[in-house]
Amino acid sequence: MKQKTPRLLRESIFQQARSRCGYCQTDIQIVGPVLEIDHIIPEGAGGETVEENLWVACSSCNRHKGSRTHARDPESGRRIRIFNPRMQIWSRHFHWSGNGTQVIGLTACGRATVEALDINNSEIVAARSRWVGAGWHPPKN
Ligand SMILES: [Zn+2]
Repeated sequence: MKQKTPRLLRESIFQQARSRCGYCQTDIQIVGPVLEIDHIIPEGAGGETVEENLWVACSSCNRHKGSRTHARDPESGRRIRIFNPRMQIWSRHFHWSGNGTQVIGLTACGRATVEALDINNSEIVAARSRWVGAGWHPPKN
């Protein structure tokens, strides 16, 4: 059953995540208050609504992740655990393309996550290109 995240816990998670999607780095300061609480291990896979299992995700990443915990690395074909934004460091698994609009997976985990969450879908890439033009993107840290 879907459990609502208590308000204080929700606020704490947003603070820890610096109000950015843990997967594609989309920032609430750019897109407004549309980011969501993500269950790192999805509720459908037994993940609980506790701090250790929560992070922030944009609706697109969250929806594509669904109830999955693993995805296929497009390079090796191996089944890999999806990136965990609480336990893993984003810059070790991903980097930005030269023009700042695409997330490139550096590791099997990064590649599997980019593909599974459709992190470079055409709508977000078009938005990122405008953010780059405005000097808001990619994030500096
Ligand atoms: Zn995202």
